[in-house]
Amino acid sequence: MPLSNSQDRQLRERAAAVIPGGMYGHQSTGLLPDDYPQFFAKAKGARLWDVDGHELLDFMCAYGPNLMGYADESIDAAYVSRMRQGDTMTGPSALIVELAETMTAMVTHADWAIFCKNGGDATQIALMTARAHTGRKTVILAKGAYHGALPWCTPRPTGATPEERANRFFCDYNDIASLEAAVAAAGDDLAAIFAAPVKHDAFVDQALPDPAYARRTRELCDQTGALLVVDDVRAGLRIARDCSWATLGVQPDLSSWGKCFANGHPISALLGSEKARKAASQIYTTGSFWYQAAPMAAALETLKRVRETDYLEHMEGLGERLRSGLAERAAAAGIGLRQTGPVTMPLFLFDDDPDLRQGFLWSSQMLARGVYVHPWHNMFLCAAMTSADIDQALDAAEASFAVVKAERPALGPVAKLSFLLA
Ligand code: PMP
Repeated sequence: MPLSNSQDRQLRERAAAVIPGGMYGHQSTGLLPDDYPQFFAKAKGARLWDVDGHELLDFMCAYGPNLMGYADESIDAAYVSRMRQGDTMTGPSALIVELAETMTAMVTHADWAIFCKNGGDATQIALMTARAHTGRKTVILAKGAYHGALPWCTPRPTGATPEERANRFFCDYNDIASLEAAVAAAGDDLAAIFAAPVKHDAFVDQALPDPAYARRTRELCDQTGALLVVDDVRAGLRIARDCSWATLGVQPDLSSWGKCFANGHPISALLGSEKARKAASQIYTTGSFWYQAAPMAAALETLKRVRETDYLEHMEGLGERLRSGLAERAAAAGIGLRQTGPVTMPLFLFDDDPDLRQGFLWSSQMLARGVYVHPWHNMFLCAAMTSADIDQALDAAEASFAVVKAERPALGPVAKLSFLLA
């Protein structure tokens, strides 16, 4: 039985009149099963409540920002207390220095930090810093990797000019030969290689980085003088308490951070090594809210938790349990389920499901059982999840696999999604 959704439907109708396309971004109409809520009323710990009052165990974590649990008491107390003293002011508070000290102490390659708001701000500053450092224009990106919605990197180029999307070459993730070919094509104009810490592209199986590929990326940057940027906006703090590629022994020159290091409060960062300091000090970059003090207080509290607790090991344990439990249940139901990516950021895709009709049905069935999963984007675990939550997800999954098995032969195509899969 799908969940009742009259409040959500009413809001959608009103939104259609005043928000282009009804909604933008991840909640754009048609990207998720029709019965998925678009509007939410509240969130606490690992759970969300939609505007129709349904409680949902949330495996999306706001697309990453929820690391320690929604509405975390001590992190939010730090935020509120700083907000009452002064938040957006004529200049930064002392916290900006403390936060820069904290993050440069935490991230091995980093000697300096610039704070901004969104992940896209940080990747934009990374690109400008690399161009300023090298005096060159070209950037190498992995095909399908997301680095934000700016004209040079948005996956949907409508509204961007060819000039804004010039000076880019592409390689295949984990494919050294294609990386070398892209470097050769860039010739003497290579400013930066952008690397995703893991392949976490939408719609396809995820892949962990091949250490040889990561090392070769570093070598090619050293040989050409280009800067290596690891875009840790999505994976940061769910793989390591350092830059994610530090686990491979590879240190970038720049790393971009966002989403979760203030547990959902609005702040992002570009961290850089000594080599790039001069260039970073020469570019012009700012924003009206970039000195905001309250998110910095929240970040300091979140990072204290990162340093002092086993939040990461806890999430990894739950992620392993989810992965093996789902594998067992899918196999028992005769369903081919591919689980890829780090266990803290899993993606599930069904075999023989090119247009995601099984994935959409399974996700809807999970939702009807109070579990919010995603049919084509990587998910996120948070530290507020418990073993009981994983058990709830596994029970829901077992029942949902049975429905997929029974209904699979008669399933029609998923409406509206085909344009994205084309
Ligand atoms: N880089 C990566 C790897 C991301 O996942 C995202 C956002 N999903 C961004 C950059 C852009 O971040 P934001 O949406 O905060 O601008």
